[in-house]
Amino acid sequence: AEAFNANVAAAKALNAFIVETPEQALGAAKQADADRAAGTLKPLSGVPIGMKDLFATKGVQTTAASHMLEGFVPRYESTVSQKLWDAGAGMLGKLNLDQFAMGSSNETSFFGNVISPWKRNDGGNAALAPGGSSGGSSAAIAARLCPAATGTDTGGSIRQPAAFTGISGIKPTYGRCSRWGIVAFASSLDQAGPMARDVRDCAIMLQNMAGFDPKDATSLDLPVPNWEAALSSDLKGKKVGIPREYRLEGIDPDIDAMWDAGIAMLKDAGAEVVEISLPHTKYALPAYYIIAPAEASSNLARYDGVRYGLRDLPQGAGLQDMYAATRAEGFGPEVKRRIMIGTYVLSAGFYDAYYTQAQKVRTLISRDFSAAFERCDVILAPTAPSAAFGLGEKTADPLSMYLNDVFAVPASLAGLPAMSVPAALNREGLPLGLQIIGKAFDEQGVLNAGLAIE
Ligand code: GLN
Repeated sequence: AEAFNANVAAAKALNAFIVETPEQALGAAKQADADRAAGTLKPLSGVPIGMKDLFATKGVQTTAASHMLEGFVPRYESTVSQKLWDAGAGMLGKLNLDQFAMGSSNETSFFGNVISPWKRNDGGNAALAPGGSSGGSSAAIAARLCPAATGTDTGGSIRQPAAFTGISGIKPTYGRCSRWGIVAFASSLDQAGPMARDVRDCAIMLQNMAGFDPKDATSLDLPVPNWEAALSSDLKGKKVGIPREYRLEGIDPDIDAMWDAGIAMLKDAGAEVVEISLPHTKYALPAYYIIAPAEASSNLARYDGVRYGLRDLPQGAGLQDMYAATRAEGFGPEVKRRIMIGTYVLSAGFYDAYYTQAQKVRTLISRDFSAAFERCDVILAPTAPSAAFGLGEKTADPLSMYLNDVFAVPASLAGLPAMSVPAALNREGLPLGLQIIGKAFDEQGVLNAGLAIE
C-alpha cells in the first residue's frame, strides 16, 4: 500500500483521482498483517483498490464528478464497496469519471479530464482519452496506480475504457451487483463491475462485489459461483459466434485484423467458430440514446437544491427560482443535454414515437441475442470501433462521441454479461480490446473465453 500511495502522488498529472484516501489503504494493509499472523486472511486482504466516484462511501466525498454533488459526504456505504471492504480490500481514493457517468472519454467531469498513460508511437506527446465513463479507473490501473478498481457500465463504461487502456473489465449480468448506493444514471441499464490488469483479477474482484441484495429491487437472487476456481482457457466443445452485423463498413483495418486474430486464438483454444446474425444491431445505439437519457432525466430530478449537495438560493428567490438556479449551476452541458433529450422523449406528444419505439427495439435486440445463443455459447466482437482518440477530438460533436459506443450498447440493452480484454496494439502502438458477450448468468463462459485471448 505504501508503494501504491507513492505512485499515486507521483502520477497526479493523470488526474485519475478526485479524492485520495491513503490512510484507508494503509489501514487495510495493517489489518492484513494482523490477519496473516492470526491465520484469518480474507480474499482481498490488504489489496489497495480505486473506487469510481459514483459509489457512495461513508464519510468520504462522493461527487459523480459533478459540481452538483461537490462536497456531498454520504452517511452510508454502497453495497458493492461494503462487500469489498468486508473482503479485506482498502480504498486508495475516489476515481474520476464522466459527470454522472455520461460520456465516453472522461471529458465531461467537473474535476477535469483524465489523461491516459498511453502515447502514440509517433514520437508526439498528444494526450489521449482514457475512455469513459470509468476513465479514472482505467487510467489508474493502466498506470499501475492500483491493481484493480470498480467501474460501472450503463452503455459500455467498463468495457470501452478498458479497451482504450489495455486492461480488462467485465460488466456482469444485470442484477449481479447491487445498485444500492451507486449514483443512478439509467437504472434499467446500470451495472457495476471490476476493472483490473487481467481476467483472473477481474474474476476475484467480481466474486467479492456480486451477490443478492434485498435493498436493490432488481438484484438477482442467485448464488455467486466461484468463478476463479472454474477459470479455464480450454474451450473444447464451446461455440463462439461472430456477429456479421458488427463488421462495419469503413472500420479501421486494425480493428478487423485484431478481431480475426482473436478468432484464431479461440480456435486454438479448442472452440468452434460460427457466424451468427444479430439483425437489429443498427437500431441499438439510437434506442440506447433514447432510453438512457429518459431514465436519466427522471433519476436526476432528485437534485433539487434541497436534498443533496449544491443549493443556489438567489437573494429573495422562491422555490422555483432555487430549483432553476441550482440545476443551471450544478449540471454540466452533457448532463443538461441528456436531461433535455430525456424529457423530450418522455413528453406526452412524443412518448410513443420515441420512448415506446425504443423499448420495442430493446425487446428485439434481446430476442436477437436469445436466437443467436441457440447456436453459440459466447459472442466475440470488438469492444469499440477505434483505439483511444485524442483529448478534445470529439467534444464538439456529441454524435461522434456517441458512435464510439456502437458495439457496447447492445449487451447493455439486453442485460447480458460482457467483458473487454486487451487483444492487440494498432499501428500507432495503442491497445485495442476484444469484447466477449455471454448468455445471461454465464459470467464463467465470458471469463474463460477472455482468458483464452489475453
Ligand atoms: N458512453 C455511454 C454514455 O455516455 C455509456 C456511459 C456508461 O456506460 N455509463 O451514455
